Amino acid sequence: MPKFYRNQNTQLDGYNEVHIDDDSCPTPPLVKNRQPLGWHANCKDAVGHANRSFTGKSDGCKNCIPTCHTR
Ligand SMILES: [Zn+2]
Repeated sequence: MPKFYRNQNTQLDGYNEVHIDDDSCPTPPLVKNRQPLGWHANCKDAVGHANRSFTGKSDGCKNCIPTCHTR
């Protein structure tokens, strides 16, 4: 089961991106800006957890979890 984190910095379009925590992302945020989301069965669950746990809208990173990138 993979681990995920959320970028605490909001993107220009108003979303906070969720990334997979396995060093596969080519465009990761700085370590200090990563908010841990824990382990999830898939990226959809991770984005759902981010949306419940933090204010603001979360979405998947288009580079590391493109199947959860919706915008
Ligand atoms: Zn990413």
